[in-house]
Amino acid sequence: MKIAVCVKQVPDSWAEKKMADGLLDRANVDAVLNDLDEYAIEEALRIVEANSPTKEAGEASGHTITLISMGPERATEAIRKALSMGADEAIHICDDQLAGSDALATSLVLAKVISDGAFDLVICGTESTDARMSVIPAMLAERLSWAQLTFAGTVSVDPSMKKVSIARSTEFGIENMEANFPAVISVIEKINEPRYPSFKGIMAAKKKTITTKNLGDINIAPELVGSKAAWSKVKDATLRPARSAGVKVEDAGEGGRKLVEFLVEKRAI
Ligand SMILES: Cc1cc2nc3c(=O)[nH]c(=O)nc-3n(C[C@H](O)[C@H](O)[C@H](O)COP(=O)(O)OP(=O)(O)OC[C@H]3O[C@@H](n4cnc5c(N)ncnc54)[C@H](O)[C@@H]3O)c2cc1C
Repeated sequence: MKIAVCVKQVPDSWAEKKMADGLLDRANVDAVLNDLDEYAIEEALRIVEANSPTKEAGEASGHTITLISMGPERATEAIRKALSMGADEAIHICDDQLAGSDALATSLVLAKVISDGAFDLVICGTESTDARMSVIPAMLAERLSWAQLTFAGTVSVDPSMKKVSIARSTEFGIENMEANFPAVISVIEKINEPRYPSFKGIMAAKKKTITTKNLGDINIAPELVGSKAAWSKVKDATLRPARSAGVKVEDAGEGGRKLVEFLVEKRAI
């Protein structure tokens, strides 16, 4: 099996974020591997371990896990972390002309790399913690004309039959879905507990191959990506107002009444 996992470097969720020229200022903020992509990597590792006699990810098992990431040069930090969890190799699409790309352009680039790589399965997180659009997996499936199994709570794979099944919880119950390879899957965060990279994994990751590609390498015209090609533009952004001090209700026997009055005033009751 050839499995691709799409991983994205995002600004640290806890960092204070600022806008610059209508775009999120990513350069001046700490960046991390998108938390939700760790579940996708873990699931790929578990699929390989469950389906290889050696019980280890890697070429020897006949299965490979390739990370695919589109992002600036510093995205290699997130890619190395993902490699240290146990993936085999990575493809990093890095080109200044990609700056400001929207989800349509991102999916165009990722889909091209995926189709060039002849993968059996692509696994994504459900969303990135910065843009939070949750659209890339569906866009990839559409662009590739592959089956789309999104928001999976469990995944099982039968490589001999080239089939993948998922279960997805909805407000109406559990949906069980099955598809033939190739397919795009997105996994929710309840699916597993991502492993911490071991010391051995961190050392091994330093030697793993990260292939960097620019737009020319993947044959995508620059006019199709970047902020000029984006279908949406951020016109304005304002910081959320600072929280004002709360109202302290002193209870000298009248606390309950004061509380009710406050809630009525706020039209909460
Ligand atoms: C006008 C505009 C300008 C923008 N400018 C920029 C910009 O300059 N720089 C920038 O980084 N973003 C920019 N964005 C945001 C960018 O378009 C989205 O981050 C990106 O298209 C993916 O959407 P998402 O992050 O919401 O992905 P989601 O659909 O929420 O992500 C789901 C999953 O898809 C995969 N995935 C998503 N993005 C990537 C990726 N890049 N590489 C690999 N896997 C991925 C991951 O597995 C992730 O868990 C811009 C958006 C708009 C609308």
